[in-house]
Amino acid sequence: MRDVWNTAALARMDKAHLWHPFTPMLDWCAEDHQPLVLVRGEGAWLEDSEGRRYLDGNSSIWTNIHGHNHPAITRAIREQLDRVAHVSFLGATNPPAIALADRLVSHFPPDTLTRVFLSDDGSTAVEAAMRMAIQFRQLQGEPTRTGFIAFENAYHGDTLGAASIGGIGAFHRPVAGHTFPVTRITDPDDLGPMNHVTAVVIEPLIQGAAGMRPWPPGLLRRLREKCDAAGVFLILDEVMTGFGRTGTLFACEQENVVPDFLCLAKGLTGGTLPLAATLTTEHVFRAFLGPFEAGRTFYYGHSYSGNPLGCAAAVASFDIFRDERVLESLPPKISRLRDLLASLSSLPFVHETRQCGLIAGIEVRRPDGSPFPWHERTGHAICLAARRHGLLTRPVLDTIVFMPPLCTSEEELDFGIAAIAAAIGDTLPAC
Ligand SMILES: *Cc1c(COP(=O)(O)O)cnc(C)c1O
Repeated sequence: MRDVWNTAALARMDKAHLWHPFTPMLDWCAEDHQPLVLVRGEGAWLEDSEGRRYLDGNSSIWTNIHGHNHPAITRAIREQLDRVAHVSFLGATNPPAIALADRLVSHFPPDTLTRVFLSDDGSTAVEAAMRMAIQFRQLQGEPTRTGFIAFENAYHGDTLGAASIGGIGAFHRPVAGHTFPVTRITDPDDLGPMNHVTAVVIEPLIQGAAGMRPWPPGLLRRLREKCDAAGVFLILDEVMTGFGRTGTLFACEQENVVPDFLCLAKGLTGGTLPLAATLTTEHVFRAFLGPFEAGRTFYYGHSYSGNPLGCAAAVASFDIFRDERVLESLPPKISRLRDLLASLSSLPFVHETRQCGLIAGIEVRRPDGSPFPWHERTGHAICLAARRHGLLTRPVLDTIVFMPPLCTSEEELDFGIAAIAAAIGDTLPAC
């Protein structure tokens, strides 16, 4: 039997009590705004409370990997739910977390990333890496070596520590003065003196929230070499790029780089439950070992660390990668997307298209190449128009993000890009 939803009542109650993330709430609560109420998902598709279907063009904010309601993940969660939903990871362990750590670690060369610290979100995965990188230096007798170098326009999450290393002014302006100082660079050749630096942090291969901006090939490799030469840690934030999004399971593989800290979240559970992992080396881990009274313990954690439901989902997601040969299925999709983006490039107002694997950004500007005034929210208007053509996504300013789940077929890629083309035509009629 189909569920029946009272969309108007849901909208009224939402507007009365909820506060949505990254959302201008005056517009949201306006009388004539009808919030999108999502009620079901199947594969790359989502359905709203009125029975309309949409291609999930941004993988539900970059999280979904194998499609919605994948039977193998759903089954794994159900089976774990029948045992226990949550137990503490502080001083106890659980089988799904143990299995997950084994799967994560076994993906990397032996004696590289061997330790897994579990938390809840991308921001906390980054926070944990930063805290480890700071405390490590203290434990090694270098208490002033606690600085970070990060990149302009980087995005690493919204908790204050993660926001401190972020470089997107509009997000962090309200807390400016409450974050800690960080050296921000645009090019790895500008690293400067590093004797006060514990770690360099980067989103490998492509910056996400900056507007889907790929790095020049070789940059990551070069950064790794410079960090090694200076004895500085390399923290890779693969919260967006992890789990096949760039064509390989992790983006760093494409430049043969293994970081000192690897931060994972969004796609870790296939996009079903909040869970994050910070991977590090035995070298880092060993510094935290000592008799209790030596005070070397890593005092950091969250109530839901190691949540068994999330870990069971993540293990099931690894099984799907293996059983459905997901990575092997990607090259034709990635080249189809490349062709589709090339066809978009010739449209009026399409200033540039950018791609890394199954991640794409389509930037619109005025015909003379100048940006639209930011307050006109052109990208936002295009995404609203795309909805009428059956595609859900969100922009970064005037860059339309297209990064559907990895299970999306070539025909569905065609559909998604056609919807974006139509939406640009609807929003910006050629004069
Ligand atoms: C989304 C994102 C984060 C933050 O993850 P949350 O789960 O939203 O806290 C961090 N880094 C990158 C690269 C991201 O895309």
